[in-house]
Amino acid sequence: MANKENISIISLGGKGEVGKNMIIIEDQNNILILDAGTLFPDNDLTGVDIIIPDISYLIENKEKIRAIVFSHGHEDHIGAIKYLLQYINPPLYGTDLTMALIKDRLNDLSYAKNVNINIIDENSKIKLGDFQLEFCHVNHSIPASLATLIKSKIGNIIYTGDYKFDQTPINNPQTNYQKIADWGKKGVLALLADSTNAERKGHSLSERIVKRNIEEKIKLSEQRILIATFSTNIDRIQHIIEAAHKTNRKIAFSGYSLQKTAKIAIKLGYISLPEEILIPLAEAKNIKKEKTIILMTGSQGEKRASLTKLSRGAHRELEIIPGDTVFISATPIPGNEISVADTINQLYKKGARVICNGMMDVHASGHAYQEEMKMMINLIKPRYLIPVHGEFRHLYHHAQLGKKMGIPVENIFITDNGDKLELSSDGLKIGEKVKNGNIYINNEEIIDDNNFIKERKKLAKSGVLNIIVTKEKNKYSNLNIESKGLSNPDKNITEIKKLIQKVLDNRNKNIKDIIKEITSRIDDFFYNKYFSSPYIFINILNI
Ligand SMILES: [Zn+2]
Repeated sequence: MANKENISIISLGGKGEVGKNMIIIEDQNNILILDAGTLFPDNDLTGVDIIIPDISYLIENKEKIRAIVFSHGHEDHIGAIKYLLQYINPPLYGTDLTMALIKDRLNDLSYAKNVNINIIDENSKIKLGDFQLEFCHVNHSIPASLATLIKSKIGNIIYTGDYKFDQTPINNPQTNYQKIADWGKKGVLALLADSTNAERKGHSLSERIVKRNIEEKIKLSEQRILIATFSTNIDRIQHIIEAAHKTNRKIAFSGYSLQKTAKIAIKLGYISLPEEILIPLAEAKNIKKEKTIILMTGSQGEKRASLTKLSRGAHRELEIIPGDTVFISATPIPGNEISVADTINQLYKKGARVICNGMMDVHASGHAYQEEMKMMINLIKPRYLIPVHGEFRHLYHHAQLGKKMGIPVENIFITDNGDKLELSSDGLKIGEKVKNGNIYINNEEIIDDNNFIKERKKLAKSGVLNIIVTKEKNKYSNLNIESKGLSNPDKNITEIKKLIQKVLDNRNKNIKDIIKEITSRIDDFFYNKYFSSPYIFINILNI
């Protein structure tokens, strides 16, 4: 626990991974939570839809929690909230757009009825326990993103959230350089800064270039245009709407999250959509293909998203027309590369042409590149640099940049999730580790069975055997075996039947022993033959 003059900084997620971002700032009496996000699982986590941080530490220290402050409305920063509210219920703070996206996720949740929602903007100044907070507008791939200044008893801490310095953004002003510089002038103890693109040299691409490229490509095309992007990339959605308008095309939306986000953004004035150009998706096929743009989800190859379904011929309302041009206006989040590549291959197979980054710039990252990260460090001139948000290679390269900017190596801290950084007037040191880890979500529910992952993996790897034997007057008969996911099932089941019959022929054994022996013999059979171990269910029916 932090003593009077200490501030602890703990990441419960976002270190060594891209997502699940959650940072705790703690003093003796108060805990402030910065963001609460989700992470996409690796492909081998069968049955897991998303991952959220383990918040055992927060539950233990519930009474100290003053608020969760959200930097922006991306899933990797807000997505965990609907699950966390089952255990903690602090006031929530964020911009109008961020909070509207959060509210939308909390709809219909009985435990989220009394949530205390507070709207802030870059001019807000709030007091949460002993912390005073100020905010600064930053460019990112969603509007209404904020960096946060946290004034504590021992000094100022800055959390950048996700940011970039776009000199020519569209639809929103540049990152507020003056304010960041002013914060820097006042003296900053620790900078917690986004590391996602720390390996990328130079400056990130301006959103204006993406807009120009997409617009030119659409102008030259005489085919149907399909564009997949993140449903929260509201500025990108706006460009595409404007491009549709300029090229006299109608636009349709495909994908629940996209439609929902667009509705929220239109309501708040972040998207302007002339009514006459919007058409329902079902009508898109009645309009000349060269007069249509379909905006869709699925830029990450997500199984249930529109573009993925379309690429596999499983979309209910659409199919690929040979000659379609598909823009993937996003880059794969680390871990999603295989699913995205698979989607692209399927699209080509169906006769579409795919345009993605690498061919031309149709996506700009929302995260600072090295030169922008250097600028952030130079404007703030923190005593301590704490890289956040990223795999360890990203954190490492961010630390290297800090070193080049003149921050002493001993003042740069690469930490793991759960590491408690203790900041005091004596300096910064790594203290004890707090409980942290992954909570898995399946079908919007927290998976509370510790064996879930193990069982799903076993099912996927080895399959299932269901054995039914009838026992009538001390005689075993009607041996029936069903299998799922077994290789060569007919041949193997014939062999297994012989094994079982041998066990059953020995009538001196009781049922318990028979089941045990059958299981063990089948286990040996599969282990020796395939080095695998299917699930075995044995039912003995007494007649
Ligand atoms: Zn973001």
